Amino acid sequence: MHSYPKLLIVNFNKADRTIIKKSLADANLTHTSQPAADELDAHEFLQKKTFSCILLNENGSAQKALDFILQLRTERNNIPVLLIADAEHNFNSDTTKLLAPVQVMVKQKLKNSELSNAIQQLIASHQTENFTTKDNAKISEHRYKVLFENAHGFICTHSMTGEILSINRAAAKILGYKVSELLGHNLREFLIEDKQNIFDDYLHELKTHHKATGIMQFMSKDSEKRYLVYRNVVHFEPATKPYVIASSQDITDIFLIEKQLESANRISELNINRLHKTLLELDKAKKIAEESVRIKQEFLANMSHEIRTPMNAIIGFASLLEKSLLNNEQTDYLSAIKISGENLLVIINDILDFSKIDAGMMSIEKTQFDIDVHISKIINQFEPKIREKNLLLKHNFNFKRNLNVIGDPVRLLQVLSNLISNAIKFTEKGGITVSVNVKNETAERIWIELIVSDTGIGIPADKVETVFESFTQASPETTRKYGGTGLGLAIVKKLLELQNGFIALKSHMNVGTTFTFTIPYEKVEYGNNETQHPLEIKSEVENFFGLKVLLVEDNLLNQKLVTKLLEDLNCRVDIANNGLEAIEKVKTHHYEIIIMDIQMPEMDGLQATRIMRNQLGIITPIIALTAHTFKEEEDKCIEAGMNDFLSKPFTRGDLFRIIRANIDSKLAPNANSTKLTDLTFLNELADGNKEFIKKMLEIYVKQTPENIGSLETFAADNNYDGISSVAHKMRSSVPYVGLAEVEKLLEKLEFEAKQRINVNNYAHLVSEIKRMCEISITEVNEHLKGFAEA
Ligand code: ATP
Ligand code: MG
Repeated sequence: MHSYPKLLIVNFNKADRTIIKKSLADANLTHTSQPAADELDAHEFLQKKTFSCILLNENGSAQKALDFILQLRTERNNIPVLLIADAEHNFNSDTTKLLAPVQVMVKQKLKNSELSNAIQQLIASHQTENFTTKDNAKISEHRYKVLFENAHGFICTHSMTGEILSINRAAAKILGYKVSELLGHNLREFLIEDKQNIFDDYLHELKTHHKATGIMQFMSKDSEKRYLVYRNVVHFEPATKPYVIASSQDITDIFLIEKQLESANRISELNINRLHKTLLELDKAKKIAEESVRIKQEFLANMSHEIRTPMNAIIGFASLLEKSLLNNEQTDYLSAIKISGENLLVIINDILDFSKIDAGMMSIEKTQFDIDVHISKIINQFEPKIREKNLLLKHNFNFKRNLNVIGDPVRLLQVLSNLISNAIKFTEKGGITVSVNVKNETAERIWIELIVSDTGIGIPADKVETVFESFTQASPETTRKYGGTGLGLAIVKKLLELQNGFIALKSHMNVGTTFTFTIPYEKVEYGNNETQHPLEIKSEVENFFGLKVLLVEDNLLNQKLVTKLLEDLNCRVDIANNGLEAIEKVKTHHYEIIIMDIQMPEMDGLQATRIMRNQLGIITPIIALTAHTFKEEEDKCIEAGMNDFLSKPFTRGDLFRIIRANIDSKLAPNANSTKLTDLTFLNELADGNKEFIKKMLEIYVKQTPENIGSLETFAADNNYDGISSVAHKMRSSVPYVGLAEVEKLLEKLEFEAKQRINVNNYAHLVSEIKRMCEISITEVNEHLKGFAEA
């Protein structure tokens, strides 16, 4: 029976195996094949099955391939091997002859028919040689000897107890000895000491299974550990004692590298674990820190609210009371309340400022301001106190007038006023000098130096360093004698640090003290040097001519205070006690501005604003009243849909300015005017024709009161058609004088009267229209007077 060649294909990758398969198929060589990943694997297959030929790939290691064949031959396996070489000259033909039957073929030839030919030839010649695996005699003693000498691997034979019978040069070299030094010795002597029991196990294994595989550790002559991987077999021969054929591979280098890799891996694993743990801890710490900052921030916000709100009421009412008729005693009490309140507010503000800086929440603004104007302003504020103490105040401004810079004027004033107030406080006679110099200047920056010096009590030399610390005063009597908390200079120092500035101090006891500080500012580009002087804001008539205001505030005291201030400004005030009430009010009433507290029961100001903006579509400007001075709070107000915010405590002037800023665009398109009427449209229409303008205004002045009279009559008689037709007529005339607000009300009135809805509100609407028209008529009459005079 003809059998197909059975091929064992060793050490080829998948691509190579495919090439082999294809090339054999092309050559019509019918065969079966078994792939083996490496030489060890091949050994396993050879134990179990018989093959006709091995295809062995050199794959970078000629020595390994040769050792494998050598091992086969020492095991009396004479299977033909087709050795596929990476390059032509990798194998010495003397060696391959010794290992016969072996044929070498270069890898490139795998592709063509030479592969099939080589295999067939190899198998055929082997068969004719009739070279069977059991034929021991064919391997001569001489052949063994040559093999022994030439093999690069570790080869030896030893007795069943470990005595070395023969050993090749390569093996002796691995152990660092000459062959003669090893023969007759027991292998055990060369093992590293603590592995002796392993050698016993090894001998036992050979005795019972006639073969053994594993790794053995030897100590070389120069005390280096060598690692050998072995695959040893017991050889039985007639008339001799069985002995062991040992063939091993020195893997010391690989072993060491692996060990290093392993420990490197372990170390990096350890480090990764540590890193991971540190990251977790950091994350935790970060969360705790963030949380504590948040709590601190919240605490500050609440604290400022809780303290400043009642202070607002106390100081505000004291000011209002001052204007009423009081007897002398009452006036004294009242001024004591006011002064104490103001002092308390200064301390509260100091503590808040200090905590704010501490919490990293103090932001430094960048605005353009006039150095001269701002510094003069602060000095002027101290004039009464200076006079009171009979001191002299001098100032030297050593720079050109109108010097404008970009920076934070408020923080500059805070620093300067702390220093001036200290100077006044700690000086009994003599005076105080404030000097301002330009210390340095580049293309973009300018360093302003301020010097505040006094002729006061001085600071002891050993306290010069510590006075800048918080809650620190030069001596324990300071508080008793002069008051204060010792926070002023700490705030000064921190504020300067925030502005990249610095401060120094010189002092002589009983002679005086000089503080010098410097702040760098950005320069203003030339031509952009016009700023408004805060001292010179044109004084305007603080009058809103009956503006309709909704005040939403739960605190009764504040309700009264703000109402009074608003009424002083000629506003008409409606009150809602919380957000819910406010929502109900705006559904049925029209307001020109809404002033809204933030924290209120039932519904807070932010929520109420969101509902007004998003659900009711109300566009009336809303101004928040906050006790908080934090940027976060302000952002929240704007996000909710508010237009602006005013922080408590505030003056009537503050209230006036903020309302004006927010209604300007509606009531007076020409910015600075607070007039209700606006003749822009009429002027455009007239295109310079003054007569036309005059005529139109005269008609307006004549007809409007008549129309309003009719509206009032119809409203009283519930004559809805009458109302709607007059409203319609008026709607076409009010735009000439720019009464957009009145036009809207008329439109609403006309629509509702036609539909007969909200009938109870007509009288209210009519009176609102009448009020504004009356104002407009007064204003138009002024205009007409102007025409007459011209
Ligand atoms: P606060 O400013 O918080 O109301 P304070 O004025 O006592 O209190 P700081 O402004 O920080 O606190 O000043 C700290 C201390 O430095 C003062 O208590 C005082 O002893 C000393 N000191 C500050 N300025 C002068 C000065 N111009 N002359 C003499 N001593 C001064
Ligand atoms: Mg002070």
